[in-house]
Amino acid sequence: MTRPIYAHVNLDALKHNYLLAKEANQGPALAVLKANAYGHGAVACAQALSPIADGFAVASLEEARQLRNAQITQPILLLEGFFDAEELAEIAALECWVVVHDAWQVDALCAAQFKAQTQVWLKVNTGMHRLGLTPAEVPQAYQALSNCPQVDQVALMTHFANADAIDKSDVKAQIRQFEETANALSFDGLISLSNSAAILSGVGLKNLNQSSSNWVRPGLMLYGADPLYANIEKDNNVQPLQTVMTLQAKLIAVKTLQAGDAIGYGSLFKADVTMRVGVVACGYADGYPRTAMQAPVAVDGVQTTTLGRVSMDMLYVDLRDLPEAAIGSVVELWGEQVSVDAVASAANTLSYELLCNVKRVQFTYS
Ligand SMILES: *Cc1c(COP(=O)(O)O)cnc(C)c1O
Repeated sequence: MTRPIYAHVNLDALKHNYLLAKEANQGPALAVLKANAYGHGAVACAQALSPIADGFAVASLEEARQLRNAQITQPILLLEGFFDAEELAEIAALECWVVVHDAWQVDALCAAQFKAQTQVWLKVNTGMHRLGLTPAEVPQAYQALSNCPQVDQVALMTHFANADAIDKSDVKAQIRQFEETANALSFDGLISLSNSAAILSGVGLKNLNQSSSNWVRPGLMLYGADPLYANIEKDNNVQPLQTVMTLQAKLIAVKTLQAGDAIGYGSLFKADVTMRVGVVACGYADGYPRTAMQAPVAVDGVQTTTLGRVSMDMLYVDLRDLPEAAIGSVVELWGEQVSVDAVASAANTLSYELLCNVKRVQFTYS
């Protein structure tokens, strides 16, 4: 038998979550498949979404090429644009859409020699200060791109820094800045603002005017994880997302600790009574966060917690309430029974990081 650790991906749930994003927007949505679809397998996810998706978004030409090689024909947006003008010929050949976030990219695009026309998403920095032209730089770039024969349409986009915060005032300030920038151009084309947190909290969804269309960019929510997890606990307002990935492993050993015995590196957990502990074939090399402390986990469907320090290939679970658990018992690290957001929270991080990091496990799809 091979090492017993599996990631099961529910593609129907992925489709369901994508449709929720479209429904919330009452309009088109680019399914964000960067980072190997947040660790779920970009090609499998793209093929499942292909019959219903308006388009996809990825972080690099390599990621786009992988989808085109898998016969994906929808628009694919390169979220960081191109890193080098040499990429432009292939971008045109693969008919990708490109983000332009800096003046050098405007010049490179207009100087490029290729036959196809590409759609450009001009990125405005409305306050996040990661990528994007300042509102003052936008009119000149917009003019140049509009006059550039290699450019088909120019869309206008921005990205929110704090869409997951309870206080939406920062998002609203970014929306105002975006609207002012668009209005200064009398812009009425395609716009795009919202990531998952903005979609789920219902901010930033309106159109500029009747002829403009607003494309949302759901990432995390497609995979059934919730960027508003911390907020939702406070609001008690559960979103109807369906779980996509279930990460499962098995118990490969069961130890009985006597009072005073410690388990694992650093002897981080010490028993104060006689108790059983399970050793699970999952560690940080599989993507389970090493920083997780007393994270929720399910053994044979029963909720318990992890114990001690996560090691590279193994971690420990509390079997005090699981007298039947034995070698071979199924352990859900996250999935239907254990929320990946709750595990992330126990590790002081976000489900984004957990999902992206899954590796060295056998994937199955249904
Ligand atoms: C990753 C990314 C998204 C998706 O964000 P989620 O929070 O996962 O929904 C949207 N837009 C841009 C520009 C991104 O880089």
